Parts: sequence; C-alpha cells; structure tokens
Amino acid sequence: MGIRRWVRRDLPAEALSEPAGRTVNSEGPDPAAPAEVPAAQPASEWETLRAQVAACQKCDLHASRTQTVFGTGDRNADLMIIGEAPGADEDRLGEPFVGRAGQLLDQMLLAAGFRRNQVYIANILKCRPPDNRNPAPQEILACSGYLASQIAMLQPKVILAVGGISATSLLETDQSVGRLRGEVHNFGENRIPLVVTYHPAYLLRKPAEKAKSWIDLQLLMRVLRGIA
Ligand code: URA
Ligand code: SF4
Repeated sequence: MGIRRWVRRDLPAEALSEPAGRTVNSEGPDPAAPAEVPAAQPASEWETLRAQVAACQKCDLHASRTQTVFGTGDRNADLMIIGEAPGADEDRLGEPFVGRAGQLLDQMLLAAGFRRNQVYIANILKCRPPDNRNPAPQEILACSGYLASQIAMLQPKVILAVGGISATSLLETDQSVGRLRGEVHNFGENRIPLVVTYHPAYLLRKPAEKAKSWIDLQLLMRVLRGIA
C-alpha cells in the first residue's frame, strides 16, 4: 500500500531515548551517546492521518456526522479488528465499538484472551451513516485509503473482519459471512491472514450464532499462535 514504516516495531520507545542519569561531559560529546535520535515518526504519522480523517469531506457522510471515529487501541497490536461503521454511540463518543455491540465484542475478545486495549480496532467507514443504514459502495471507496494506511502502519499479524460489510469490502467479494467464515483468507499484497466472523450486532439479534463465532475466534487464536 506504499506506506513506509519508519521505526522498528520491536524497539521500545525507551530504547531510543538517553539512559537516565547520563550527563554531558565537558570534554565534548559523550562517545556512547547515539549519533542521532530519530524523531517519533510513527506517532506523527498516526497523528497526521488522524487529522486528515477528522477534516475529511470526501463523501457526503461528513455532513451528518457529529465527529469522525478514527480507531483505537495498541498501535503495535498483533490483532486488528475491523468493523463496519460508527453507530450512534460511536458518533457521539468518537470511539469505535462502544455501544451494545461493542460490549459484546469486548466479551468476545476477552474469551480469545485479549483486553480491548491490547488490539487495534477500526472501521471500514470513519463516519456514521444516517439511521445506521448500510454504507454505500462509493462511501466505502472514498474512505478506503484511511483504513489502508492504518493497516500499513500497524502491520497486524492477523485481521479479524467482523460482519459482512467488513469482510466483503476487505476481500473484494460478495459472498456471505456464512460462506467466508471458517477459513483463513489473506489480505493485501502482504497477504495478512484474515479471519471472518459475524458482527456482534447480528449476534445480539441471533444469539444462537454465537457458537459459530466462538469457533471463528478459536481459528483466530490458532492463526495468532502460528498453527493455522
Ligand atoms: N458497529 C461497527 O461496525 N462499528 C462500530 O464502531 C460500532 C458498531
Ligand atoms: Fe471521509 Fe470516510 Fe467520513 Fe466519508 S466516511 S467523510 S470518506 S472519513
């Protein structure tokens, strides 16, 4: 997707700063000091993108939103969750998956061994479609570059696509979640493993499908452990 990564993700931020307690020696620069401390590029890249999204008017949804919903979580996460679009609660609070569906998603993640802040959560669309209607194809297209940048910066080990809109947009297919779940797909040129499951809002309406969703989460966990 043409987005460059600037800093190794395995290097903690502290490793880039001066060790505590070192003083500058009067005979000149400390030979043990790092020649040049790189600026915190990833943070600034993320903030640049966040600002672009906040100001975006690329589709009509900008006119009816309260605010954009960029995404949240650990920018070094192995697991990225991709939903559909903000609902009323998300539009009001500016964070994805904070309503009832979000509470169920949190429970699903916990069952898979993740707290919410240990994954990264984003949506296909950053603005709420009025009356929670389905996103229109031209809205998905207009917004897709932002998600592509988020994925490129995050470089997740695995993507979990929740719901049909997310799965069909990411995999460029028109198959149903029922058909797409149960196998490991690949996303993008880096062929990031991608698992599909039902949207938690659907599971709230059809609790009997939760058993299938749990099977999907087990597949996800196997992929994360490198054995699927
Ligand atoms: N449903 C989604 O797909 N995303 C959200 O952020 C909230 C509800
Ligand atoms: Fe821009 Fe995406 Fe919001 Fe449309 S949905 S205005 S493309 S941020």
